[in-house]
Amino acid sequence: MFKKILIANRGEIACRVAATARRMGIQTVAVYSDADASAKHVQACDEAVHVGGSAPKDSYLRWERILQAAKDTGAEAVHPGYGFLSENEDFAKACVAAGLVFIGPPASAILAMGLKAESKRLMEQAGVPLVPGYHGADQDPALLQREADRIGYPALIKASAGGGGKGMRVVEKSEDFAAALASCQREAINSFGSDAVLIEKYVQRPRHIEIQVFGDTQGNCVYLFERDCSVQRRHQKVLEEAPAPGMTEALRAHMGAAAVAAAKAVNYVGAGTVEFIVEQTAYDQPESMKFFFMEMNTRLQVEHPVTEAITGLDLVEWQLRVASGEPLPLRQDQLRIQGHAIEARICAENPDNNFLPATGTLQVYRKPQASSFERSTVRVDDGVRGGDTISPFYDSMVAKLIVHGDTREQALARLDTALAQTHIVGLNTNVQFLRHVVRSESFATAKLDTALIQREAAVLFKQETVGLAAAVATVVAHTLHAEKALQGADPFSRRDGWQSHSLAQRRFEFVWQDQPRSARLNYLHDGAVSLSLEGEEAASGVLTFAADGAGLWVQWGSAPRVFSQLDWQGETAHLFTHQGATRITVLDPLAHAGEAAQEGGRLTAPMPGKVVSFAVKVGDKVKAGQPLAVMEAMKMEHTISAPKDGVVAELLYAPGDQVADGAELLKLAA
Ligand code: ADP
Ligand code: ADP
Ligand code: MG
Repeated sequence: MFKKILIANRGEIACRVAATARRMGIQTVAVYSDADASAKHVQACDEAVHVGGSAPKDSYLRWERILQAAKDTGAEAVHPGYGFLSENEDFAKACVAAGLVFIGPPASAILAMGLKAESKRLMEQAGVPLVPGYHGADQDPALLQREADRIGYPALIKASAGGGGKGMRVVEKSEDFAAALASCQREAINSFGSDAVLIEKYVQRPRHIEIQVFGDTQGNCVYLFERDCSVQRRHQKVLEEAPAPGMTEALRAHMGAAAVAAAKAVNYVGAGTVEFIVEQTAYDQPESMKFFFMEMNTRLQVEHPVTEAITGLDLVEWQLRVASGEPLPLRQDQLRIQGHAIEARICAENPDNNFLPATGTLQVYRKPQASSFERSTVRVDDGVRGGDTISPFYDSMVAKLIVHGDTREQALARLDTALAQTHIVGLNTNVQFLRHVVRSESFATAKLDTALIQREAAVLFKQETVGLAAAVATVVAHTLHAEKALQGADPFSRRDGWQSHSLAQRRFEFVWQDQPRSARLNYLHDGAVSLSLEGEEAASGVLTFAADGAGLWVQWGSAPRVFSQLDWQGETAHLFTHQGATRITVLDPLAHAGEAAQEGGRLTAPMPGKVVSFAVKVGDKVKAGQPLAVMEAMKMEHTISAPKDGVVAELLYAPGDQVADGAELLKLAA
């Protein structure tokens, strides 16, 4: 076995490989870019070498630098992870030429499977079923059009050198073919440097089912069953599960044998995945399922943990054993499926805005009780910590949440709960969207195909799981609770509006879903409070709350008691409940003076808007609660007040300036 390996990757996969290496007593060397100088993967390894600038082409793709780092540190082997150099045959060759072991297949296998068209020709010879289509070398547009007409519509055009869903075009009718071809070729030349395409019949009700294979240097090859990755957006995977719902023993054996034949046809060594597209005439008729080879990914995949969960194996350990020359640890007849596993990819993106990738800082990153990089009922694999930034340089995956249960139903329930316990503030993520998918009728009842997200769109996008009334009651309760904690024992320091001679009232103003809202709080004689939402007669009643751990149980009127956790980002409260999450802005500078004070005098814009005026100048002494600036946002003026006593150190904007959400407006010194 190796004594030291270099991990030529970053993020969660680098941490994943390091975890197994550590468990096996193998030393690890990390490489990192400027942006990743203090990244989690650097800390996860025993040594780290800086390889260049933040853009991948300046660091993680600079393989001469990476090989030099391996030599300098005395690493014997290189693990490429996924993405970056993992499917680059030149890199695999260069490793070998430099006397290093490439932890992956031989360069010849990467090359053979690298081009979709070539690999299809090879698979045809090996007797692996292919989607009806054209994958010839002649790229004459007129010929391509004739081929598409022959195959029939809808047809799919793919970049032969493609990957990651890029360049694919579905063509509905013959007249649209020429335009779609031109647009696919444009994207292909930009992304992959080649405009060669292939054409396939667009399979109906398609399911993406892939087989994990493993080969060793002794010529053994096994399959570690299947993963269903049908739930996709933009042809990219969102949820992956194993085993595939509805899979029969006969079909599994058949697909497994085809995948092993595919791997053997290219003398495969190490971990690989053979992807199939599966046609079904109806969702509940597994006997109607027909499978066709799509492509082979010659690396470990993002979704490998679901296979680990159902087989009880550590696939990175297998990779290391095979790469060091050991035979596969188990034979096919020793492999078993236990239970059901599902992985959800948590990404920094905005599902409601066509999954636009998001960037930002993980101001709050709260995870469910889980293991990392090893099997358990709930597992979170990630390469980030709270406070880390999701930068525009790399992909948008924040974490992978993997659950395992005895049955699919149990795994689903665990996934839903684990997602409810995943709280991220500071950037947009798909966490709530994933919950909607998990709870959708199609996913819950395993009516799977790659169009599931489009089909269920009505219940997946622009959903509000915590209504206005619940949001208002919860944020008011949290505010009152924080004030109580602040006020201490001194009766003269109370600032809850309570007066002995009469009922006291207090008004709260909010912005919820871009709309101004307000509520009235009445202090009752017995110390209780009642809350009413203005403009909604029905929404009125006594508000009670009790602290429990990091959150509060809140009850308002006759509504059910709800447990919630809350995080402030400026004036915006992010509320997390088991039912879902929402955000609400509170236009009351005193409402959460406690939290603002903790921010150490940082005064930030609560929302994007315009600076109207400053009420103070540099050098002014200010008292807590004193107005400092006025902002205009969402058609309202909003006063920003001092969270504590201090001296104005700097004004960072001028009246009239537009500022972003969270921008620091002025500095307050103690
Ligand atoms: P999988 O089938 O494992 O989901 P993907 O095609 O989604 O494979 O790619 C896996 C990972 O590889 C992605 O999450 C991304 O990090 C990385 N990746 C894919 N394509 C590229 C690329 N062109 N450049 C850099 N990284 C990439
Ligand atoms: P990539 O290299 O970009 O991953 P793939 O060939 O693996 O490209 O296809 C990606 C996805 O596109 C599949 O998972 C599937 O959802 C869809 N797809 C691919 N081929 C077909 C087809 N012939 N019919 C229907 N859907 C397809
Ligand atoms: Mg693919």
